[in-house]
Amino acid sequence: MRCELCGKEAGDPKPVFVEGTKLNVCPACTRFGDKFSGGSSTSTTSRSVIEERLEKRKRRMSSRDVFSGDNEELVLDYRERIRGARDRLGWDQDKLASEIKEKKSIIAKMEAGDITPPEGLVKKIEKALNITLKEKVLAGGEVKGSGGRGLTLGDFIKKE
Ligand SMILES: [Zn+2]
Repeated sequence: MRCELCGKEAGDPKPVFVEGTKLNVCPACTRFGDKFSGGSSTSTTSRSVIEERLEKRKRRMSSRDVFSGDNEELVLDYRERIRGARDRLGWDQDKLASEIKEKKSIIAKMEAGDITPPEGLVKKIEKALNITLKEKVLAGGEVKGSGGRGLTLGDFIKKE
């Protein structure tokens, strides 16, 4: 069965709650569940902490891509790029969500920086808005994993 968040094949999907909606997601996407959202009372301080954590997680996720030959990384200003492209097209979040067949809550969370969009979502947004959200990074650069070898998903989960 497929992960309901990133669309990748997930052998053992786990149920998580995203914006109160139950989704069956692959192990890599469980982090997008509500336990990291911080709720509505998120202060500026805790928001930046969350962003920092997501940023680190994103780097670790990206390191797997580096080793599998895909050395493109999500640009840091992807939120601005998405918002800017939406504005140029005159699309609101609802419109973008329906264009790429995603929940509006996912778009809102992504633009708010509460979640880092998974690979599948990035691709759909790039296509829908005709923008680029990924840039090549040098293999062996700062996104390289600490272990000097490709991390498997299993390694990743154990570390968590
Ligand atoms: Zn997934």
